[in-house]
Amino acid sequence: KSYRKWETTTVQTTCPYCGTGCQIDMVLKDGKIVDAEPANGPANKNLLCVKGRFAAFNFAQSKDRLTKPLIKKNGKFEKVSWSEAIDYIAKRFTELKTKYGPDSLAGFACSRSTNEDDYVLQKMVRTAFGTNNVDNCARVCHAPSVHGLGMTLGSGAMTNTIKDITTDVDAILLIGSNTTEAHPVIGVQIRSAVQHGAKLIVVDPRNIDLVKNSKLHLQLKAGTNIALINGMMHVIIEEGLADMNFIEQRTEDFDKIKALVADYTPEKVAEICGIDANLIVEAAEMYAKAKKAPLIYCLGVTEHSYGTEGVMSMSNLALLVGKLGKPGCGVNPLRGQNNVQGACDMGCDPFDFPGYQKLNTPGVVEKFEEAWGTKLNPNVGKTSTQVMPAAGEGKIKGLFIFGEDPIVTDPDTNEVRHDLENLEFLVVHELFMTETAEYADVVLPGLSYLEKDGTFTNTERRIQRVRAAIKPLSGVKQDYDVFTEIATAMGYPMHYNSASEIMDEIAQLVPTFGGVSFDRLENPNGLQWPCLDVHDPGTPIMHVHEFTRGKGLFMALPYHPAKELPDDKYPFVLSTGRELYHYNTRAYSERTEGITELAGLGRDKSYIEMNQVNADELGIKDGDRVRVSSRRGTLETYANVGQRVLPDAAFMTFHFPDGNANIVANPMTDDIARCPDYKVCAINIEPV
Ligand code: SF4
Repeated sequence: KSYRKWETTTVQTTCPYCGTGCQIDMVLKDGKIVDAEPANGPANKNLLCVKGRFAAFNFAQSKDRLTKPLIKKNGKFEKVSWSEAIDYIAKRFTELKTKYGPDSLAGFACSRSTNEDDYVLQKMVRTAFGTNNVDNCARVCHAPSVHGLGMTLGSGAMTNTIKDITTDVDAILLIGSNTTEAHPVIGVQIRSAVQHGAKLIVVDPRNIDLVKNSKLHLQLKAGTNIALINGMMHVIIEEGLADMNFIEQRTEDFDKIKALVADYTPEKVAEICGIDANLIVEAAEMYAKAKKAPLIYCLGVTEHSYGTEGVMSMSNLALLVGKLGKPGCGVNPLRGQNNVQGACDMGCDPFDFPGYQKLNTPGVVEKFEEAWGTKLNPNVGKTSTQVMPAAGEGKIKGLFIFGEDPIVTDPDTNEVRHDLENLEFLVVHELFMTETAEYADVVLPGLSYLEKDGTFTNTERRIQRVRAAIKPLSGVKQDYDVFTEIATAMGYPMHYNSASEIMDEIAQLVPTFGGVSFDRLENPNGLQWPCLDVHDPGTPIMHVHEFTRGKGLFMALPYHPAKELPDDKYPFVLSTGRELYHYNTRAYSERTEGITELAGLGRDKSYIEMNQVNADELGIKDGDRVRVSSRRGTLETYANVGQRVLPDAAFMTFHFPDGNANIVANPMTDDIARCPDYKVCAINIEPV
């Protein structure tokens, strides 16, 4: 270590990577962060994973940071003053709005940034731009949870707490979550629950690490979750394991689900899923008979052509056995980014104002018109997955992107590049010159989480403080100030003196945040919404006496095959996901020496996991270069041959620029939440 303890001070803040919301003490010496140590937060209990421990601060002190606004002039970026940049942005967006109408503009919020920044961003888009074309990256991960659980339970968030679902439980049903890599500190707590006697059921097409700790592994074919859940419900009803009291008192439409699943016999479902029928029976019995058994899921459920239906299947199953509104149970989506829960809560969504107050609910638009003192557009906006193709078709003309890099993160990279090129005006607000920023007309420097005060909301609805540990980079504004200045220059005056003042406005307008304030957030446990007033301690377990929508709604959902299926030309099914050492675009994690050497099988290069059977057929050895192609594009990468994926299946991450899986990935979306199917993409693999 390059410091002595007595030379340092610490500032406690919240990890900027995944939605676990681990608390970290930043260790400071002479105004610089020199280390990060685990703090005793409610979600992490003094634990941190490799990213939080070693890669949570170097990026903020990196020499690569953008420091000045840049305007592209004659094809080259030139440094300009803030006033020139703001005036130019306001002028260009106003021109487009006048010429093509407000719905020709759109804004993307940043799920890595604070609630306060995102609240102001969506307010800028709704008031100054005059459109509801505002979204965040939940659209490409957990939007199906927001929509699906919103429809069946009335609230699209995790129902219980991390501690509750990993302490003193009898069984855990884990579906489509590679927890030890994507939410490592929750993964550790699941392992601990198993050591204390919980029976773990893993449902995953890959042989993930937690399989070693499981009683059962249902290694189903990607895209068949709904068939499996219908099959488990068939067994539960047939064997009299359904909780009929709960069903009668607290749910509706049970008859419809009963009629639907009558046809989903274990034998039929086994055929669809490619697993043993006995496993379906065992899993159903183990889950239904356990007194306390949480259902935990992640992107293996949501990122499908029928992802929202898949989410509703999760609540069907939990409703059937009465495992909702109780300790050690619930339906628990693990949200991806540190503040993607918050970005959704703050109304960075084309359907909802802050707090999931729906545009099409009578009185909601009027409520925000009165609060914000301006006329608002009453029409539901476009999702980010609709904005991009609309840009490609010339219907969206101007786009403001705050802290997102869709060229790296969105499926079908070639099409995304085309869409961005087709815009008349693009502003990117970022820490670094990303691939997407290269396409911008104006690039604005942003602040990292270590230079700002505010809040993040973790996956269990826990609002926690983010505290400025270091001074903002010289000449860089608070992000919310940038949005208020643009809005003001466009004719909607806005100003805030602090992040705390923004939270006070949120508390006034969002009933579920009614009791939240920075003063109350000094409590080391933060506050879990719903927190209705200043006397409300927050809500660890939702739906205890009644569901947010009243009764829990069963949705009868038949299984449909994925929208893109393999054929002779593209015979493999590719799923994409993350690995432990990197996070999504790597904007943060690649700037820490050591992490990149550990990643990607020690090569810091992209790779594709494939089964030994297919590798033998194709004459491919572990580590060989291979060509991967789909209906959208081609890339080259290294083969990682083994048994982790099923025969005829494959897996890649999108972390590595030398072969980003999104070049080939499938942009087809589900029909409700419009989330792309990152899990079932038909590809070919051949030796180079
Ligand atoms: Fe950060 Fe998530 Fe790791 Fe915790 S588990 S340290 S929140 S990346």
